[in-house]
Amino acid sequence: MKIFCGRANPTTGSMEWLEEGEDYDYHQEIARSRYADMLHDKDRNVKYYQGIRAAVSRVKERGEKAIVLDIGTGTGLLSMMAASAGADFCYAIEVFKPMANAAVKIVEKNGFSDKIKVINKHSTEVTVGPDGDMQCRANILVTELFDTELIGEGALPTYEHAHKYLVQEGCEAVPHRATVYVQLVESRRMWSWKKLFPVHVEAEDGEKILVPPSEMENCPGVPSVCDIQLNQMPSSDFSTLSDVVTMFSVDFSKPVQSASTYYRVQLEPVKSGKAQIVLSWWDIDMDPSGMINCTMAPYWVKPTSALQWRDHWMQCVYFLPREEPVLQGEKLYLTACRDEYSVWYSLQKAREGENKADEEEHKADVRVESPVCRCRAHLLWNRPRFGELNDQNRTHQYIKSLRKVLKTDSVCLCISDGSLLPVLAHYLGAKQVQYLVLFFRALHFSLVFFSHVLFKANNLEDKIKIIEARPELLKPSHLEDKKISVLVGEPFFTTSLLPWHNLYFWYARTAVSAHLASSVTVLPQAASLHMMIVEFQDLWRIRSPCGICEGFDVQTMDDMIKDSLNFRESKEAEPHPLWEYPCKSLSDPQEVLTFDFTKTVPEHCLSTEGSVKLLRKGKSHGAVLWMEYHLAADISVSTGLMQLSNEKGNCEWNPHCKQAVYFFSSVIESEIQSDPTTVTYAINFDTKTGEIAMDFKL
Ligand code: SAH
Repeated sequence: MKIFCGRANPTTGSMEWLEEGEDYDYHQEIARSRYADMLHDKDRNVKYYQGIRAAVSRVKERGEKAIVLDIGTGTGLLSMMAASAGADFCYAIEVFKPMANAAVKIVEKNGFSDKIKVINKHSTEVTVGPDGDMQCRANILVTELFDTELIGEGALPTYEHAHKYLVQEGCEAVPHRATVYVQLVESRRMWSWKKLFPVHVEAEDGEKILVPPSEMENCPGVPSVCDIQLNQMPSSDFSTLSDVVTMFSVDFSKPVQSASTYYRVQLEPVKSGKAQIVLSWWDIDMDPSGMINCTMAPYWVKPTSALQWRDHWMQCVYFLPREEPVLQGEKLYLTACRDEYSVWYSLQKAREGENKADEEEHKADVRVESPVCRCRAHLLWNRPRFGELNDQNRTHQYIKSLRKVLKTDSVCLCISDGSLLPVLAHYLGAKQVQYLVLFFRALHFSLVFFSHVLFKANNLEDKIKIIEARPELLKPSHLEDKKISVLVGEPFFTTSLLPWHNLYFWYARTAVSAHLASSVTVLPQAASLHMMIVEFQDLWRIRSPCGICEGFDVQTMDDMIKDSLNFRESKEAEPHPLWEYPCKSLSDPQEVLTFDFTKTVPEHCLSTEGSVKLLRKGKSHGAVLWMEYHLAADISVSTGLMQLSNEKGNCEWNPHCKQAVYFFSSVIESEIQSDPTTVTYAINFDTKTGEIAMDFKL
């Protein structure tokens, strides 16, 4: 038996199906999968059911037998809907073996084994004929193969193949069609995820400005989709420059072509401004009439009362290759290019007195080539990291602290990935020559970007030295036999998944101890781990069992997720960018552990135990944990909680970082009483592994 697992290939942005051995642990796939989230998506489920019922009726009205092909059946849900709606037979295809096994069990439990055949194959491997997987071609095609970008999970090639080999001509399709919508916007906040803004540094000898290199101006960036919960983006953070426009649609009941192509629409800005971003989302019509519509439209397009929370489908942010000033009423063309798995956008201005022929010529200009980062910054910094580096408040905290600790003769070593701290330190430094050393953990892209692009553009090549060595391999010769007087780090490392993984700085600091001057200043001097108990508005759903979904018993799936969580995940925190997932604090934030960077990492573990009082009425879904860095006396930066509004307990989170969320296995409801409920915790930082284990008792 083969197990196939889908993996995004970061070099191409496309999905690959890899064959894994029998012993492959798929628990993480299940535990962190979106199956639970899909089953909780009431709006989606109801509309699929309506669409499926309508399609079965149409086929029956024609006097035909209803033969259904359900590609990517997951739990078998859509096939069970079809069987209940009167379909004569369903072929339920599922490539992921643990899910195919679950589907067999769920179908049996619900009494549909005689109507639904689960086939554990990729749809392109399915055979049709008397000895094949399917007796005959199907006349109803049901799928749910969409991601936030619609096509990122390979829906197009799957449909293309299915129309050629697995379904009849003129088949019914649920959904019948998908439509992609776009809106042109200006947004400094979102643009800061793509471009480096100039960094202003007030130094003793005047203002210094780090300018973004020219290579970055026209760089298209990387093709990977930027999908976010756009409903959490306040309207004050962007300005819409156009109406919502239909970009393209796909009719799933007809042969589908997956080959690269482009679509072009004409736009007239409703307002003058800087065109930077294309916001995009899609909807699906479950039936040909368009009466059964499931949409991802954000709050300003759709009344908030109709919004269904979901995490498996969000909205997309596309970055134009460059910022384009546009005038109200001017004629523009927006082009969407796509390959099999991804979409990207460009904007063209119509030329003065343009006629049809010119327009055709324009079309010929379109190159359907996937964006490739030319400046290398987009390979080095991901979007949240761009946002973080462009955060002026944050930069200011570092500048203030560096100013306190740097001296004219400082020898400074920076340990962080892709950091601008060495540049800040240099600008704030002495008139005398300084030895500023930038240190990377063998990140080749960093090296090329910093030395050949950023430093060149700012005449810093001979001012800052890059050392390509791991901390334990640092030699006196790297430092020209000098001792380090100031050791700095943000700290930030690209490999960090959870907030405390940036404690790698502490390990690196320990490894370079022999090179530190006796009077060395370490910045940050310390870090602390903070914790708070919260009630999530919606995020709790991804962990809550579904039980019955549209009348079908899917408890087998709940059990499977629970098993997978118990297998490894349940005692672990997971990273989530909480600015996208609102929650309410039920306790005060609490500092639970501190890490002293002025000393080396101790041999023994760091443990703590204690209790937190629940101060507000609500459901305790879990604990949120984050790090704060104490840069210098009275100057700290938080990677988690930024602000707490006290009456309601609404939290504002650092928008550039992911926080750690530890979901409690059972939720407790607290009432405000004279004697508030407490949650006890035990937290252990294992200095050998760098991991933090935790346990909570309610
Ligand atoms: N139909 C279910 C699950 C949808 S999730 C529901 O609506 O609730 C999509 C599923 O399709 C995943 O389980 C994935 O493994 C599977 N899948 C994606 N492409 C496939 C293909 N071409 N052939 C078979 N399975 C596929």
